[in-house]
Amino acid sequence: MIEEKGILFVLSGPSGVGKGTVRKALFDKDTALKYSISMTTRAKREGETEGIDYFYKSKEEFERMIEEKKLLEYAQYVGNYYGTPKEYVEETLESGKDVFLEIEVQGALQVKENFPQGVFIFLFPPSLEELANRIINRGTETEDIVNNRLTEAKKEIEMMDAYDYVVVNDQIDTAVSKIQSIVRSEHCKRERV
Ligand code: 5GP
Repeated sequence: MIEEKGILFVLSGPSGVGKGTVRKALFDKDTALKYSISMTTRAKREGETEGIDYFYKSKEEFERMIEEKKLLEYAQYVGNYYGTPKEYVEETLESGKDVFLEIEVQGALQVKENFPQGVFIFLFPPSLEELANRIINRGTETEDIVNNRLTEAKKEIEMMDAYDYVVVNDQIDTAVSKIQSIVRSEHCKRERV
C-alpha cells in the first residue's frame, strides 16, 4: 500500500457550534492526527496556554506574517486576526502525517481554493436556538461580541454546501466518531497497491 503524503482535514462551522470541544475530544482519542496550532491577535483567555491553544501575536506581527506569505489562510473574525501557519502544514503533510485544522468558515473557504485536495467537514449545530444558547452560556464575551458572533454564525451556515461532509454536533462522542470514520474513509479512498 502506498500513501505518500498526509491528508489535510479541515473542521469548520459557526462560532459556538462546539468545534473546539469536538476537536479536543477527537485529539484525546486520536494521536495520529497532527493539530495545526493557529496564530491569533485575540487576547489569551483564562485557562489557555501559548503554543497549545494558540500562538498569540500582536497585530503588527500578524500583519508581517501576512506580508511574508507565512499563512496558509487567515481571517479577521470579530475584530481579531486568526491564521494557519503555512510551513507547519506543508512540512507535516510532506512527512506523511495528516494535519487537522479547526478554523472558521472564511478561512476554510480560502484553504479550499488553494488546497482543493483537503477534506472539508462542516460541524452543524443541533438547532439555531441551541447555537445561540451555547454562545451566550460560554460567558467569556460581552453582549456586543455575542451578537456579532450570532450574526456571523447565520452567515456561516449558508456556506455549508461548499463542504465535503456535514456532521451534526448533538452529541460530542457521536460527532467525534463520525469524524474518525471520515478520516478512515478518506485513507481508504487514497490507498493504492
Ligand atoms: P476563539 O476566539 O473562540 O478561539 O475562535 C474564534 C473562531 O476562530 C473559531 O471559529 C475558531 O475555529 C476560529 N479559528 C481558530 N483558529 C483559526 C485560524 O487559524 N484561522 C481561521 N480562519 N479561523 C480560526
